[in-house]
Amino acid sequence: MSKDSDTALNPANKTLASVISCLSDYDPDALPVADAQAIIRQLIEPINAVEKIALRSALDRVLAADIVSPINVPSHDNSAMDGYAFHGKELNKDSDLSLKVIGTAFAGRAFDGTVGSGACVRIMTGAIMPGGCDTVIPQEYVLGANAAGDSAITIPAGAVKTGDNRRLKGEDLKVGTPALQKGKILRPADLGLLASLGIGEVPVQRRLRVAFFSTGDELRSIGETLDEGCVYDSNRYTLYGMLTRLGCDVVDMGVIKDDPAVLEAAFRTACENADAIITSGGVSVGEADYTKQMMAQLGDVGFWKIGMRPGRPMAFGKIASNGKQAYLFGLPGNPVAVMVTFYFLARQALLHMMGASAVAAPPLMRVVSKAAIRKRPGRTEYQRGILSRNSAGIQEVSITGSQGSGVLRSMSEANCMVVLEHDRADVKAGDLVDVILFEGLI
Ligand code: AMP
Ligand code: MG
Repeated sequence: MSKDSDTALNPANKTLASVISCLSDYDPDALPVADAQAIIRQLIEPINAVEKIALRSALDRVLAADIVSPINVPSHDNSAMDGYAFHGKELNKDSDLSLKVIGTAFAGRAFDGTVGSGACVRIMTGAIMPGGCDTVIPQEYVLGANAAGDSAITIPAGAVKTGDNRRLKGEDLKVGTPALQKGKILRPADLGLLASLGIGEVPVQRRLRVAFFSTGDELRSIGETLDEGCVYDSNRYTLYGMLTRLGCDVVDMGVIKDDPAVLEAAFRTACENADAIITSGGVSVGEADYTKQMMAQLGDVGFWKIGMRPGRPMAFGKIASNGKQAYLFGLPGNPVAVMVTFYFLARQALLHMMGASAVAAPPLMRVVSKAAIRKRPGRTEYQRGILSRNSAGIQEVSITGSQGSGVLRSMSEANCMVVLEHDRADVKAGDLVDVILFEGLI
């Protein structure tokens, strides 16, 4: 792994204590999700390191500068239809209009004559409007023309109005106006939009480097013998997937043994080579291992019991090693808890570090709960759901089987997360609940 100078975070930045002091009733042993999110949000600072890359490579990257349109798109008034271009002022609402066809305008090959009164030009979609023409009649509305293009056409009364079927110069983007704003995550439409401006290279924030490892002596890696009482390490794979989807550079450091020297070396290596570290396991109350101890020793880390289910225990803060700092997310060990704490606590923070501006949490949709759901007030619950449309076309959600925090199958089968808010009590069949979809169009 290389050591880049931009890995080090600004040493003058905030401490956990200074952020927490702003909260009136901070209790690390009963922290509402919203408070945990707020603390994380305030401690995190964007990395701000820019690189210029080719347009295609910029997909899913964070735009690092505002893009102002260097040209008008489209560059000229042009036709939105295949048809005939003419002067709208010749239209008379009570009578048909007959026009002589005096030429053809193709996309990319303009008609350069003048169109006088009583005349029109056959025009293709995207062709520049001939001088003075402001209206296009689609060819299928015209009487008297055939495919070869008759020398005269008749426009039935009332078929079009002045200005119809004409795309105006600059109607998509006007020269000098903002096209895309810094901080936007570039989606396929944005690549196309940049291409429409002729921009082939884009300034983006460099990728966030995130190191992650699993802790727990019971963990085995794929390929190792599964000794009695052991489990295969699945968290590194879900984390790999979630971080990769987010566009991070991932550094998978494997399973780290519960040995102070080994743990210290792992934390230091991660800290010196990554912007953020994500660990799983070893942060619950009564953990016999050294993970928490090492986190506390190397940095400014809070150990929380969050009012959420799954995912109660979590560590968050910054650690330092040899003059470098990295944010630390110590996620719980249970496989579903790892995913839920990642999605609802780490994800937004990583996006903020990546320089993504005002990233709203994924939209919540209110849908009908098919069945009753048990829910205790005083914690946010994230249940795994399957959203479907009933015969009346209404969206309904049902919970996937067992909601145990170790049951990864519940995540795999689900297509959404049901978010039951902090103060909510039991849900009755037919009540409305919030869901977040796992997949969207983009
Ligand atoms: P912990 O938070 O370390 O107490 O772990 C809680 C539960 O999650 C235990 O049953 C662990 O065996 C399990 N667990 C911890 N880490 C992993 C992992 N990387 N993959 C799968 N299960 C894990
Ligand atoms: Mg453990």
